Amino acid sequence: MLKVDLHCHSNVSDGVLAPADVAQHARQGGVDVWALTDHDEIGGIAAARVAAADLGMQFVSGVEISITWAKETVHIVGLRLDETNPALLAGLACTRSGRDNRGREISRQLELAGIPGAYEGALKYVGNPDLMSRTHFARYLVEVGACKNVPEVFKKYLSEGKPGYVPHCWASLSDAVGWIRGAGGVAVIAHPGRYKFSDTAQGVLFDEFKQLGGAAIEVVTGSHTPDQYPIYAEHARRYGFLASRGTDFHAPGEARVDFGLLPPLPSNLTPVWHDWF
Ligand code: AMP
Ligand code: MN
Ligand code: MN
Ligand code: MN
Repeated sequence: MLKVDLHCHSNVSDGVLAPADVAQHARQGGVDVWALTDHDEIGGIAAARVAAADLGMQFVSGVEISITWAKETVHIVGLRLDETNPALLAGLACTRSGRDNRGREISRQLELAGIPGAYEGALKYVGNPDLMSRTHFARYLVEVGACKNVPEVFKKYLSEGKPGYVPHCWASLSDAVGWIRGAGGVAVIAHPGRYKFSDTAQGVLFDEFKQLGGAAIEVVTGSHTPDQYPIYAEHARRYGFLASRGTDFHAPGEARVDFGLLPPLPSNLTPVWHDWF
């Protein structure tokens, strides 16, 4: 059976490895079909595609778009898209444009919380000046000993209601799905189990997404706990979504799951890649 992994990050967004090194790491983990899905950015795709071909992996172009839906940040993955599509490129550039200012504001908030110099500190971890992410702040706060690991930084400082949280308005659901579909791609709701929606709100999100032409949800992902796999498998069946699978890898040792460690999709689902080969 093909090992398919359709969600991960390079240092073109908030991962730590260069695209070609992520490719190699994925191959070492046994991946046969691989997508790079950097946040709001397609700048790593060309290098990733070449590296994947050299390693004998099938490559799938991808992106993970940040949107705001019902006042929450939601991520929409686009797969198999034409990364040269002008409307997609313009939309992603617009989505990235507020990140630097948000980073400066996060830094001011952290300073008030007793952690100075976080903007400059986070910048040391940034591979793409256009893409300063909360993850880069998290790595810096671990470096200075404010927390012992990245998840703890999110819990104590960077999530809603915490001292370093700065609200941000991203693209809309309809923009993101429109850019992806306009570029010939497939739209996927990333890690639906990570959002803090009520069952009702989640149902509305799924319905709206479907109406806009969204095709799939992630079921098996490193950003779900294993007990969420059957829950989202059931949602995929009920709503008639295709199912996707991917580590959401950012850095070796930073999260629970690395390439090669996820189980296959539960049976009785149609994989998002069912008609690709
Ligand atoms: P940003 O796009 O700058 O808001 O940062 C979002 C990124 O932060 C996500 O893509 C994850 O990589 C990371 N992240 C968000 N929540 C958590 C969490 N609870 N634990 C670890 N990383 C997280
Ligand atoms: Mn990330
Ligand atoms: Mn995400
Ligand atoms: Mn991701």
